[in-house]
Amino acid sequence: MAETMIPKATAKRLPLYYRYLTFLANAGTTKVSSTELAEAVKVDSATIRRDFSYFGALGKRGYGYDVMDLIKFFKKILNQDKLTSVGLVGVGNLGHALLNYNFRQTNNIRISAGFDVNPEIANTIQSGVPIYPMADMVTQLREQQIEIVILTVPTDAAQAITNDLVKAGIKGIMNFTPLRISVPSYVRVQNVDLATELQTLIYFLQHYGPTLNDA
Ligand code: ATP
Repeated sequence: MAETMIPKATAKRLPLYYRYLTFLANAGTTKVSSTELAEAVKVDSATIRRDFSYFGALGKRGYGYDVMDLIKFFKKILNQDKLTSVGLVGVGNLGHALLNYNFRQTNNIRISAGFDVNPEIANTIQSGVPIYPMADMVTQLREQQIEIVILTVPTDAAQAITNDLVKAGIKGIMNFTPLRISVPSYVRVQNVDLATELQTLIYFLQHYGPTLNDA
């Protein structure tokens, strides 16, 4: 199928669907209805049907969706066929936690190289991942053809490192620093600011109270 443009909100839900479908497949389930799926992933069934409709007629009324068909389909869209190597810059507390996180269990992602300025960490292996000194970052990223990097360094180091990442040909940065890093238009940044997210949650709880999850 040609790569069709799907709405961003739909795209964001794909990994969620994929994760649950994999779980179903592992449990030996072959069919799933949009209602069951809705219950499990907490997205309403109309949204699920609409999301799935962007990919063509995948479900049959009163029959549900074929789990393996959906998985095959999502695998292709999400690039799960291929193992994606990711780099990690800044092996501090958060960096270590991410190194230990099992991305591979449901997603074909692995952190294959870490980088840190700290001489006690550089040139060691942490959680099975080699950690290189910063001086080797650009070369290693290029040699290992890594296109995605997780950034878990202190805020004041983020922009200078980003500039080097761009030089190394990185296409995507998962930015855990609160800094809004500047990148050229061909580099995509996903910001994950844990403190701000928590603040937002606290704000919503204080002002609006708990609410039903909407997608
Ligand atoms: P965090 O939980 O944010 O990882 P931390 O207290 O473990 O916090 P930070 O001071 O935030 O440590 O630094 C994170 C990691 O980034 C550390 O391992 C540190 O050595 C590394 N680091 C600091 N400056 C740089 C830099 N300029 N280039 C690369 N790594 C750096």
